[in-house]
Amino acid sequence: MSPGLESTSVSVLKGVGPAVRETLAKLSLVTLADLWFHLPLRFEDRTQLTPIRDLIPGQTAQVEGLVEAVERGFRFRPQLKVAISDDSLGTLVLRFIHFHSAQAASFQAGARFRVYGDVRLGKDCLEMIHPSYTRVLADTPLADALTPVYPLTEGLGQKTIQRLIQEALTRLPPESDFELLPVDLRVRHDLPGLRESLLTVHRPGPDDVADLLAQQHPAQRRLAFDELLAHQISLRQIRKLTQQLPATRIIAGKRRKPLLKALPFQLTGAQTRVLSELDRDLACGKPMMRLVQGDVGSGKTVVAAIAAASAADAGVQTALLAPTELLAEQHYRNVDRWLSPLGIRVVHLSGKIKGKARDKALADIAGDADVVVGTHALIQDQVRFRALSLIVIDEQHRFGVHQRLSLREKGLGALVPHQLVMTATPIPRTLAMSLYADLDVSVIDELPPGRTPVATKVISNSRRDEVIERIRAACAEGRQAYWVCPLIEESEQLEAQAAEATFKLLTESLPDLPIGLLHGRMKSKDKRATMDAFQSGALRLLVATTVIEVGVDVPNASLMIIENAERMGLSQLHQLRGRVGRGRIASSCVLMYQPPLGALARERLNVLRETEDGFKIAERDLQLRGPGELLGTRQTGELAFRIANLSQHAEQLPHVSAAADWMLEHAPEAAERLMRRWIGQQARFADA
Ligand code: ADP
Ligand code: MG
Repeated sequence: MSPGLESTSVSVLKGVGPAVRETLAKLSLVTLADLWFHLPLRFEDRTQLTPIRDLIPGQTAQVEGLVEAVERGFRFRPQLKVAISDDSLGTLVLRFIHFHSAQAASFQAGARFRVYGDVRLGKDCLEMIHPSYTRVLADTPLADALTPVYPLTEGLGQKTIQRLIQEALTRLPPESDFELLPVDLRVRHDLPGLRESLLTVHRPGPDDVADLLAQQHPAQRRLAFDELLAHQISLRQIRKLTQQLPATRIIAGKRRKPLLKALPFQLTGAQTRVLSELDRDLACGKPMMRLVQGDVGSGKTVVAAIAAASAADAGVQTALLAPTELLAEQHYRNVDRWLSPLGIRVVHLSGKIKGKARDKALADIAGDADVVVGTHALIQDQVRFRALSLIVIDEQHRFGVHQRLSLREKGLGALVPHQLVMTATPIPRTLAMSLYADLDVSVIDELPPGRTPVATKVISNSRRDEVIERIRAACAEGRQAYWVCPLIEESEQLEAQAAEATFKLLTESLPDLPIGLLHGRMKSKDKRATMDAFQSGALRLLVATTVIEVGVDVPNASLMIIENAERMGLSQLHQLRGRVGRGRIASSCVLMYQPPLGALARERLNVLRETEDGFKIAERDLQLRGPGELLGTRQTGELAFRIANLSQHAEQLPHVSAAADWMLEHAPEAAERLMRRWIGQQARFADA
């Protein structure tokens, strides 16, 4: 068995020069194997056409029609509207908020287009916003199988990635050189061959359609098995290797008492218990590897800060890593406020700190800083610590599990830093133990006293006007509100555009209200300015993408509107809702959905109405997400798996564990190769 072909560079493919290679590298697509294992996010059904007259808002559909009219707005409303109609005598408007002139010119009256997108109710008739479209002839055949849709990055179009993957597949090795699972294991669990499975998901045949859409195809089950197995194997290796290494002994010292006394609140019982678990780990001379789970608002940060104070007492450093700059900054403020009065030096480092300030921060980190707060750029930069001994990673699910590996190198010579991982997405304990096979688990299962419950409502998008009225009323009373825009899986850019469009609409509807906009594509300076203005109350309404989901803390905000809630995972909705209910004011959350809402989707949203307990929500989410419900994969409630899906494949976990045992013992080389296929990219990414 030679792994040669797997590690062949993508540049052997037609049309991949240095520029394309670089773009692909942004998605960690470097080798042919990376392309083979770049799996579809979802599938589009372009095998049929829907008569325009039969379209229903909320539906995703393909239609074909002739251009009737084109209208192009200038200056203040530079949007492009194209009306098309078909034999059913229905009319559909295609609306583009961002477009090129050439694009506008391509829509000539009478030209025939095939269009695929989400149908919604526009001002006067049905419309699709930014649909995908191609010009066709009257007899252009329809696709005879599903179209895979892949994750993209800027500068890489769906058609290009589709073509490259198809071409890479022509170089798949024969099964005998490729399959890593032993035959008896495959037979026992009824798993098809690897080669065949990859070909099925990338090139589905007409017979595969129903099973693939239901995420029930044996090929999907096979690939999920491999992916879970690769994760298990690598987590076990990490744990095994780490446990053999020495670490600094950290014992709570002179600052513990004054710190607890100076805090503006008393720790909850759960916080105290978890803190003692951390104390025990930190003192034993082996690297701590612990996951702290706790619901939104359960007070994880302060527990980490207290551990950091112990490290400072022991004369060593702590790094606190947050997934976004927004959150890093907020942590910095809190931790600094709690610790610096005790003479602990807290330093903030982020990508946006430049020039002299940066040099100073770097010098501090190499010098007498005790606690360093930043984004995970802290790992990737050439940051040198004096004595890094404790690494706290907040909101773990935003980090690749394997990015944690690269942290180790930042330690003190032979001593390995302790690792504390905090996640705000509660997951059932059995799952946590399989998924974080390298970590011990602690749970903060109690909220601080004095929280106000959040009243949650589920209402249709068609009542948008009422919702806007509600915002007007709430803000008139001095309250603040969030408006969360729909999640768009494939592209952060499209998501940002949609947020801008919503921002415009709301600004028109609420002209007297100071409204801010926040999305992932903004410059960090602008993000911070917007966040500060919202925090200070200068902005009353914040229109945002899901970037606000993690950790943002503005107690005066008491109204949360979430658009297209039916597209999001329950855990994510729970996170978003956790942004309100933080102060004394009664808070509410409005989950808007695009009708028609299926029974299952309705039940899912109802779970949120019924409970605010993150663990219960996580369990219900798992139970409910049965087959048939097509969900986004970018659910932050779950780890970033490419194909494995905890609700569908949870029952495989025990088999995966057993297979991991077997492979590590009997086929260590195959285990290594399997890890490289599925996790290799992330490991390389972390090294970069
Ligand atoms: P999360 O666990 O979601 O990260 P945070 O650490 O952000 O929660 O804490 C949420 C808020 O609760 C913060 O404002 C924090 O200062 C406060 N807090 C933490 N612990 C307590 C406590 N024991 N009593 C009261 N407030 C607390
Ligand atoms: Mg937090």
